[in-house]
Amino acid sequence: MDEATLRTARAGHLGSGDIGTEVRVAGWVATRRDHGGVLFVDLREASGVVQVVINPEEQPDLVDLSHALRDEFCISVLGSVRERPEGTVNPDLATGEIEISATEITVLSPAAPLPFQIDDRSDVDEVRRLEYRYLDLRRPRMAANLLARSRAVGAMRSTLADEGFLEIETPTLVKSTPEGARDFLVPSRLRQGSFYALPQSPQLFKQLLMIGGVERYYQIARCYRDEDFRSDRQVEFTQLDIEGAFWGQDQVFDALEPVIGAVAKALRDLDLGTPFPRMTYADAMARYGTDKPDIRFGMELVDLSEVFAATGFKAFSGVLQGDGLVAGINGGGLGLSRAGLDGLVDRAQALGAKGLVWMVVEDGGTLRSPVAKFLSEAEQAGITERLSAEVGDTLLIVADSVALTRAVLGALRNELGQPEGHDELRFLWVTDFPVFELVGEGRLVSAHHPFTAPVDVVEMEERPETAVSRAYDLVLNGTELGSGSERIHDPETQARVFKVLGISDEEAESRFGWFMRGLQYGTPPHAGFAVGIDRFIAILQNEPNIREVIPFPKTQTGFDPLTRSPGPVDDPQLEELGIDLRPGVRAALEDEETPE
Ligand code: ASP
Repeated sequence: MDEATLRTARAGHLGSGDIGTEVRVAGWVATRRDHGGVLFVDLREASGVVQVVINPEEQPDLVDLSHALRDEFCISVLGSVRERPEGTVNPDLATGEIEISATEITVLSPAAPLPFQIDDRSDVDEVRRLEYRYLDLRRPRMAANLLARSRAVGAMRSTLADEGFLEIETPTLVKSTPEGARDFLVPSRLRQGSFYALPQSPQLFKQLLMIGGVERYYQIARCYRDEDFRSDRQVEFTQLDIEGAFWGQDQVFDALEPVIGAVAKALRDLDLGTPFPRMTYADAMARYGTDKPDIRFGMELVDLSEVFAATGFKAFSGVLQGDGLVAGINGGGLGLSRAGLDGLVDRAQALGAKGLVWMVVEDGGTLRSPVAKFLSEAEQAGITERLSAEVGDTLLIVADSVALTRAVLGALRNELGQPEGHDELRFLWVTDFPVFELVGEGRLVSAHHPFTAPVDVVEMEERPETAVSRAYDLVLNGTELGSGSERIHDPETQARVFKVLGISDEEAESRFGWFMRGLQYGTPPHAGFAVGIDRFIAILQNEPNIREVIPFPKTQTGFDPLTRSPGPVDDPQLEELGIDLRPGVRAALEDEETPE
């Protein structure tokens, strides 16, 4: 078969300049409408849609065939391009001024009855969409997302190539080295009982590339993390991974900003202002209550501890005596009813706060609030002043531990301040993250990963809870787009970080010995970053979740309804790998209903 015999023109490119010509187009039957015997078919292909008209008076031979056409049949149509009759021009369609009067129709492939309508209007259950993803991808919205993704990755590649970066692939069957999440393991057949892991990121390989003299590396890298995801994450996802030798934080930002800019230009035709603003982690937490501030709007957190330093109001004084924080936000003119205000209190409690104090500024500047009677005039004046409150404003105050006060106000701020629409893109670098985080019962884990350079090694050892690292994040409209850091480039510091993390010398040797050896051979100082491509494109495409920009995603539980993966394998396959399923596991597998 030859494309020329199937089509001579692209449906979506036809216009009034083609009137009078004979064309052959090919594509899918998007819709059929019968208007008093005259059949109208919208033919859709990757370039767009064109209307085909089959008039029984002009083409009696086509009548039977045209009535046999069904949605999503793949057809080829020969016909002449003509102007649409007056009053039938469709200004919403690129080809809306013309139509093709069919003289010949060939069915290239019929389509079985569809599991759902292929248009952007029908609201189809997502598991069903994923089960028939190939049909779902025919929807214009999904086609646009695939195109956007391809353009975005193209813009990344060309910008980085122009800057002398090498695109280098690193292995996907690797040694298990934890980066915070659980590894996916792959059993080895040739070394039964041994396992590869799928990479959580190319972190250590890109560092080895720096040791290997590659000074500028990037990769569009697939990463795998076996987590019980509840939020908008995928067990496999794609990063733009980048690393540079002789780099510090500034070189990472300088390298990435044009890449981000090229993507915004390609997808949104926007010229981003650079450099992007920067804020320290400590500042972000104090002013926005989160390490990923949405800076499209103000409503910053204000520390009110000084205002209440000598307060007689027990709920506040108790918290301040116990090293807590009293802080507030000015929600502006929310105009909420009493029930609406009580709803905010419930919300704050659901977020973990003991309570929430609301105040509405009345005419004349008095504060209407259930707690007003417990506050002195000076305190009320202090609140009004610190929160720059004006008549009609709603003020929200939380008194709790520092972390909880910030978290609750930060969340309320995001919920109340969210600007309508998503057109504005506000990027922000958040810098100086802590080296460690405390989890569970006082266990330290790396806030970024264990290969991140602490600002001061001694501080890191003596005050690990508060020590600062050279790690940074990129935030877009309140969403974390990616993270990176300046790396440790000497084995001694690396060993000291492992020690603080409670990794013994033997464990460090068995897990990371291969990498530690590499660090001994003249490692250049280096730094890098990884941008989450799925999330970045989802935001640019105004998509609510990353699955909409991933061609074949999995559900929240890591299941692929299309291929029904993961699925059981045959016994001989397991035998080759030296794997026996425990009896309970096998029984559960046999009983299992269709997972979703
Ligand atoms: N490997 C890191 C990550 O996946 C990114 C980096 O530090 O470059 O988050």
